Amino acid sequence: MKCLLCNRPIYWQVPIAKLFLFGPLTPPRICERCRAKFQHYMGPFCPCCGRSSGNGLCAECRRWQDQYGWVLHNRCLYHYNQAMKEFMHRYKFVGDYRLRAVFHAEMQSFIDRQQYDYLVPIPVTQETMATRGFNQTAGLIDGYDGHLLLTRAVEKGVPQSAKSREQRLQTPQPFKLQPDVSLDHRRILLVDDIYTTGRTLYHAATLLKAAGAASVSSLTLSG
Ligand SMILES: [Zn+2]
Ligand SMILES: [Zn+2]
Repeated sequence: MKCLLCNRPIYWQVPIAKLFLFGPLTPPRICERCRAKFQHYMGPFCPCCGRSSGNGLCAECRRWQDQYGWVLHNRCLYHYNQAMKEFMHRYKFVGDYRLRAVFHAEMQSFIDRQQYDYLVPIPVTQETMATRGFNQTAGLIDGYDGHLLLTRAVEKGVPQSAKSREQRLQTPQPFKLQPDVSLDHRRILLVDDIYTTGRTLYHAATLLKAAGAASVSSLTLSG
């Protein structure tokens, strides 16, 4: 097999210990050299955005708490470093859909340890769907029965990716709940590709909570 990022061959040996464990053995999709360029978040974590924080809630999450009176509990897997920026560029903007597999095993390992009723990928706009051809977040959880509970209105003006931090924070609610969805006592696990300011996830979570969801937590690949 070849590395999905640099195309060099991957030499993979199943670790002996894993031979005695039940469950699927997932061969790596990128080589060790490429893997080493991505940086995992290590604790101590902010209990809300999931990024590094030496002292409980980070300053950004404290602002969300003041604004909403509650905070989202997000797990963020990787730093948004240069390697991740390049990955997102190739995956989303060049449109290399094969790259959805690169972090699939790690997304899967987290999701399988959670208790939820609905796994909800953050939707893209119809406009993005027409140009990109796929929802990058749904791609990251390919193989799961994701629930498309939300739709996203077309963005007017500056696209999300080109906005400044302040512009992002002022983005109005872009989501709508699908009609006739009842979320009473349902636990929701939201998934997104990048946690930037948290604005997108808080908009989605607000709507889901207003529709009766018992809990909303989230997973993001990067942030
Ligand atoms: Zn590689
Ligand atoms: Zn935080």
